[in-house]
Amino acid sequence: MRSMANLKLDDVPTQWYNIVPDLPEPLPPPKDPEKGPSRIQNLPNLMIGECLNQEFSKERWIDIPGGVMDLYLKAGRPRPLFRATNLEKRLDTPARMYYKSEFFSPTGSHKVNTALAQCWYAKRQGFERVTTETGAGQWGTALSYAAAITGLKCTVFWVRSVYNWKKDRLSLMKLMGADVHASPSPVTEFGKKLYDKNPEHDGSLGIAISEGLEDSGRDPKATYCLGSVLNHVLMHQTIIGLETQKQFEIFDDYPDIVISCIGGGSNFGGFALPFLGDALKKGKKIKFIAAQSQVAANLQGKYEYDFADYAEITPMLKMYTLGHQADMKPIKGDGLRYHGSSPILSLLRHKGFIDTIAYPADEKHVFETAKIFIETEGWLPAPESAYSVCCAIEEALKCRESGEKKVIAFNISGHGFLDMPGYRAVLGLG
Ligand SMILES: *Cc1c(COP(=O)(O)O)cnc(C)c1O
Repeated sequence: MRSMANLKLDDVPTQWYNIVPDLPEPLPPPKDPEKGPSRIQNLPNLMIGECLNQEFSKERWIDIPGGVMDLYLKAGRPRPLFRATNLEKRLDTPARMYYKSEFFSPTGSHKVNTALAQCWYAKRQGFERVTTETGAGQWGTALSYAAAITGLKCTVFWVRSVYNWKKDRLSLMKLMGADVHASPSPVTEFGKKLYDKNPEHDGSLGIAISEGLEDSGRDPKATYCLGSVLNHVLMHQTIIGLETQKQFEIFDDYPDIVISCIGGGSNFGGFALPFLGDALKKGKKIKFIAAQSQVAANLQGKYEYDFADYAEITPMLKMYTLGHQADMKPIKGDGLRYHGSSPILSLLRHKGFIDTIAYPADEKHVFETAKIFIETEGWLPAPESAYSVCCAIEEALKCRESGEKKVIAFNISGHGFLDMPGYRAVLGLG
């Protein structure tokens, strides 16, 4: 039985998929709050021009520039699709299980797919520095990497509760030449207000976004990069699902269930949107499941306009949200801890195309279930990706009960080599 499929270089997709023209109804646009200055008019001062164009584009296919294609190859694309043959045996399931290997990434996560595109466009536009926020640290590492290899400087504001325990990620960002601040930090006006009150403030993604925006806003040579949520970010990530579709052709198979973990929605979107396109245009019957944490079950929140950041610098987005100033307890799969969800995925959830499952905050169940995958398939998923693995295993066990031979596709958004303290703490590995 074949257990891996990959693409020849000539078959690697050369366009990203923009699902916006195929959505069941028009995507609600960003909007300004009733009071205060226009956030929307300020966007060109904050964002890379080409990314802003893409954010509002209605073109179904957008060419990946040759320079970005080359960076994708340098970062190890295309990435294989594996059949989880050992795991299937261990679970004694009639289901056929396939996983996409975004863990083959120089920084350990899918986030390089958009970081490379954003830095390439920023460089072409003449910027010298990129700024950003990071929660779990994967986005900060991905942007540090992409900035380094495209010749840009990089400043990262990192949510303090995670900064404090992911020492190896901090070292990696510094090795790549980035400037890294625990957030809230004393180096921005907004951060300083919170920092002065409590220098040990845990921080949050929303606060860190506010700091990154302020820092780029005051430097004309700097621009801000966002690692998830926005339309153009999800579009850059569709390279994942587009490759996967071609790899399924090699396997001569097609998924019944498509699963990934979700924070802001970039890896879920990247993996699932090409298949959601099949569901919308070709009437394919596919079940989509977003795996979440109960501390940030954003897709189970309210579908309404809300800010993307704590300090209300961004426009308001129509999305599923827990409220932009919600307190969310830290977890080891910290990349899932964001109050809102991508407007595109929110609309599709609202229309009934996406199911969600939220796992308990102590993460024991998730990591113990993921351990079965590690023991059988041998890859170490990122703590966030463990949610995707856990959900896939649960679906396969349901097939064992029902005898159904479903095809389960799941995305492994990153590896966990830099996040080992998370596994150690939850599973007590000593
Ligand atoms: C950031 C991250 C996530 C969650 O963010 P999304 O934008 O929802 O994908 C999940 N997995 C990994 C490995 C990440 O780095």
